[in-house]
Amino acid sequence: MLKLTGKTAVITGGNSGIGLAIAQRFIGQGARVFIAGRRQDKLDEAVKSLGPAAEGIQCDVTSSEDIARLFSLVAEKVEQLDILVAASGIGGGAPLYSLTEEHFDKLFATNVRGLVFTVREGVRLMKQGGSIILLGSIAGKVNPAGYGTYSATKAAVSSYGRAWSKELTGQGIRVNILSPGPTETPIFDGVSTEVRQSFIDKIPMKRIGQPEEIASAALFFASEDSSFVTGT
Ligand code: NDP
Repeated sequence: MLKLTGKTAVITGGNSGIGLAIAQRFIGQGARVFIAGRRQDKLDEAVKSLGPAAEGIQCDVTSSEDIARLFSLVAEKVEQLDILVAASGIGGGAPLYSLTEEHFDKLFATNVRGLVFTVREGVRLMKQGGSIILLGSIAGKVNPAGYGTYSATKAAVSSYGRAWSKELTGQGIRVNILSPGPTETPIFDGVSTEVRQSFIDKIPMKRIGQPEEIASAALFFASEDSSFVTGT
């Protein structure tokens, strides 16, 4: 029996990496999925690979207009939203001495502000319960050297998620935060072999994760399997 039959999901960052793997998994479990991201070519490619249960909507989460447009297009097509995955995010390191305001603003605008207002708009479409899944990161807990700003954005995501889980239980909406360790996606494209190896050295399994492994956890949070889990 499929776990998400009849459910509708919006996945920001659904045209790449972890978001795309989650879209694939949800569709495999019977969901209808709207994926969002900035690059239209990557959205088109992803929709082609995902098949007819997927639709792509161009959206830059740093733009309030784009977020409003995303959910108004979704609302034209479905009566309610059941699952919202906020996976849009950018990485990057900057040790304190070389930290720039530009780096700080870019990371916080996408990973925190973009995520917060995506959820604020998306939750309005959740009428009869729902599951919100935020992409945090293990970086928000272990704080690797050189990644202070990225880690701070992810710690903020966890804080919001836990607060919202308490605010939204009355409406039957669960909020959980996925905090993956290093996972093989294009976010690693600019990362040197040395830094990549330093991450692997710290992982007990001595390997990078695969996006599909994160998608398994997302399916747990999206489905009734986690009906008694919120704010984790
Ligand atoms: P990818 O680079 O593959 O995916 C990032 C996604 O975010 C893309 O779909 C991208 O689409 C989208 N995105 C980036 N900026 C914006 C924006 N302004 N508006 C809308 N969409 C945006 O990386 P991952 O799959 O690895 O990352 C997904 C999430 O997982 C991120 O939040 C990341 O921080 C988190 N994470 C990743 C880990 C890893 O090791 N890979 C570990 C822990 C957490 P587009 O460029 O088209 O906008």
